[in-house]
Amino acid sequence: MTIQTVDLIIHAKWIIPVVPKNTVLTDCSLVINDNRIIAIKPTNNIEQLFSAITEHDLKEHVVMPGLINAHGHAAMNLLRGYADDLALDTWLNDHIWPAEAKHVSAEFVKQGAELATAEMIRSGTTTFSDMYFFPEETAAAAHSSGMRCQITFPIFDFPCAWGNGPDDYISKGLTLRDDYRNHERINVIFGPHAPYTVGDDTFVRLSSLAPEIQSGIQVHLHETKGEVEAAVKESGKRPIQRLYDLQVLTPTTQCVHMTQINDDDIAILQQTGAHIIHCPESNLKLASGFCPVDKLLKAGINVALGTDGAASNNNLDMFGEMHTAALLGKAVAEDAAALSAQQVIEMATINGAIAMGIESDTGSLEVGKCADIIAIKLDDIEHAPLHDVLSHVAYTHNGHRISHSWVNGQLLMQERQLTTVNTKEIASNAKEWQERLAQN
Ligand SMILES: [Zn+2]
Repeated sequence: MTIQTVDLIIHAKWIIPVVPKNTVLTDCSLVINDNRIIAIKPTNNIEQLFSAITEHDLKEHVVMPGLINAHGHAAMNLLRGYADDLALDTWLNDHIWPAEAKHVSAEFVKQGAELATAEMIRSGTTTFSDMYFFPEETAAAAHSSGMRCQITFPIFDFPCAWGNGPDDYISKGLTLRDDYRNHERINVIFGPHAPYTVGDDTFVRLSSLAPEIQSGIQVHLHETKGEVEAAVKESGKRPIQRLYDLQVLTPTTQCVHMTQINDDDIAILQQTGAHIIHCPESNLKLASGFCPVDKLLKAGINVALGTDGAASNNNLDMFGEMHTAALLGKAVAEDAAALSAQQVIEMATINGAIAMGIESDTGSLEVGKCADIIAIKLDDIEHAPLHDVLSHVAYTHNGHRISHSWVNGQLLMQERQLTTVNTKEIASNAKEWQERLAQN
């Protein structure tokens, strides 16, 4: 029998492929060649089939797909802890927006996004979605970090430091989309900020442009009760109904938050195939409301998971987010059987990939997919005993136990050492911003 030489083999004590559901493979190896998974086989006969240029023996580890943070504002890492314990309006109007107006620049976004990529890699995220000013800088940070990324370039009806209005944002965003057209890891889509910051004319334009160029759309929607009530008072319509009427909702639309949902809203989501990005920790911290995730999943709606920005979280740890999503989902459903470990793991992996339309590349460990892989070392006191690996991943907060991370076959972290980003420089830049922001 001929032995095939491949780029990489990862021998793991346990593998959670995510697809098929509720599966944990024991003593198996992942075989990777040309950035993709070409086999998943029992370790004991792998040597008869393959020899690898690089091998990793992870015998105390669980190996699983890298996590997908489906909504965030990476550069806001520089505003982590800057304004806490305030009502949403006060938080935004008196603190976050004035700080952004004064400080946000290409340099702020570059250094904030670099800080975020380091934190995300260290806590097991391999793909992130980002909506923020100067998206060119976040795209560049994603490129150099080796992470996979969906850039949702922001669109508002008013000027900001990045541009002077919707035409300018769309033009700059489409140029960025062109720049990354053939990039293996980075996709650029429309990011109309929210129904209350974007007018009908702009949404109508996006509803014809997006299908024409096969781009997705991500929008904050029904984040708070106040948002929905104000819209109904003004126009007689709930925001989701307005976006439906403007033909913005399609199977490539990602609706972020959706803490206010009635049966009509569910019918619209079912009919259009739009996705929900649930950000439980941000919703809790800003007291925005509760997304009824169990009900949505039972209605067949795809729900993915995101951290939102670090200013309202205050971390980008998707393991913490899974834990919170599971507990909150059970409480909201008044059912301890709601949102199983498998379901929240899916929300943090394959559901995010489906929402972004990249499920043929990432979101599960299956033959043919890109090698977006993380390893978690489970040999410590906090993980003993080990009755159920899926339970440990969902409920025991593993962000700090990630030992290795690969994206597209490239090793981004080995034994917690980052290979693509300079953590010393990133920390020093963050310290400088701390001083600048303190001067106000
Ligand atoms: Zn957000």
